[in-house]
Amino acid sequence: MRIGILALQGAFAEHRSMLEGLGADCVEIRQRADLMGNLDALVLPGGESTVMRKLLTELKLLYPIKKSIEDGMPVMGTCAGLILLAEHVAGGEPCFGTMPVTVRRNAYGRQLGSFQTAGDMKGIGQFPMTFIRAPYIEEVCGDVEILSVIGGKIVAARYGSQLGLAFHPELTGNPELHRYFIEEICGR
Ligand code: GLN
Repeated sequence: MRIGILALQGAFAEHRSMLEGLGADCVEIRQRADLMGNLDALVLPGGESTVMRKLLTELKLLYPIKKSIEDGMPVMGTCAGLILLAEHVAGGEPCFGTMPVTVRRNAYGRQLGSFQTAGDMKGIGQFPMTFIRAPYIEEVCGDVEILSVIGGKIVAARYGSQLGLAFHPELTGNPELHRYFIEEICGR
């Protein structure tokens, strides 16, 4: 399968090596032409969502990607990638707005800017989680399925073929979340 990884900024290389380790072909998305090659899924990495939204707009990538997601293209958004998916962003502006959740940016404050923990993830079990100036999900609507709650905050959710994670599964060396995405969300 061919997975497009948004590669404008942020932690895209780590997603690539994890997905390639699971046998997927990866295409780095930097311009509109990169979207043309029959992609089966998309990954939106962590980084800085405000910078990504600006670049997505300038490069005219925002609407074609939003349309693909709305048309059912499986997508995994991690950290800033989750912010890009969210319909409502407390402390920021929505980007694709395809996932009916409210996220709060930089939600853990300065003290807890970055931390690691492990938590239960529905469909996977205990999973190591690295949070870096992370958001959390304040509210979900409708058919959004909550997959993980840490310290009373929602940190993982699924809405049909959209998977949103507040943490960085690509930084832990554990490929189970990427495998879950490929097998359970993309159906491969
Ligand atoms: N704080 C960043 C933002 O608002 C997200 C941080 C991350 O992706 N690690 O975009």
